[in-house]
Amino acid sequence: MLVPKQYRCTHSASCICIKGHLSEDAIYLVFRHLNWNPRSIALMSCVCKWFDEIAKRILWKEFCRSRAPKMMLDLQSCGSHSVDGSWKALGKLLIYCSGFGHRGVFNITHIPGHFVYRTRFSRTSGKSFLIPQCRTDDLYVSDPCEHLDQGDDGDVGFFRGVFKSFPISSVRKMLIDRQVILHPTEVCPYCKAKLWNMLQAKMIPRSACIRLGAYDDSIECYVCLNGHMVGACTLLPLSDSEEASDLEQC
Ligand SMILES: [Zn+2]
Ligand SMILES: [Zn+2]
Repeated sequence: MLVPKQYRCTHSASCICIKGHLSEDAIYLVFRHLNWNPRSIALMSCVCKWFDEIAKRILWKEFCRSRAPKMMLDLQSCGSHSVDGSWKALGKLLIYCSGFGHRGVFNITHIPGHFVYRTRFSRTSGKSFLIPQCRTDDLYVSDPCEHLDQGDDGDVGFFRGVFKSFPISSVRKMLIDRQVILHPTEVCPYCKAKLWNMLQAKMIPRSACIRLGAYDDSIECYVCLNGHMVGACTLLPLSDSEEASDLEQC
């Protein structure tokens, strides 16, 4: 880490950073040099409150922009992600597969979360996760992160996503109109907000199964109050013909 040791602090009351020894410009330059390394940002945020403020306001935003420039430009175009703190959640969403806790109604036991090197998010893919009445919404969804042989029923796929302008989306309006109840205990792994169960709301279209390559009705999906989506499914095994053609290519 390039930020000198003397600038680290354990509690803000006696934090020397507050005295202005290190400017925001310097922090910016250092972290740009580190290519907005998320591990370093997270580590520093844990030990310094002053740094955490800067990270939430500037560094996570730059991190998101550097990793998914087009998506960030689109999400920002309506101003829904200008609020302090949400960049941090979005940054985590980009690089962290949340795994699965105890929320499953299917036979998925506990699978811990993990960082991922790179994930593709697609708005086209997101359309498959919207029921016809809500197709005008913009939703970015990741390719499934495959956890082979980790579910009781075989291979599990986890996916995550984010709505653009969630406060004015049709999905949010419908969840409220249908009076779908928020999950009593589970919270969003990215922003800690409460979650709606999309399965309970009957708002998972069949096209999502096809998109994921999952068994029919094997998808569980949650959307949080801030428009982050997390979900899991049981993946179909590769068909014999697919495996055969793979072998032929070898
Ligand atoms: Zn994963
Ligand atoms: Zn969230």
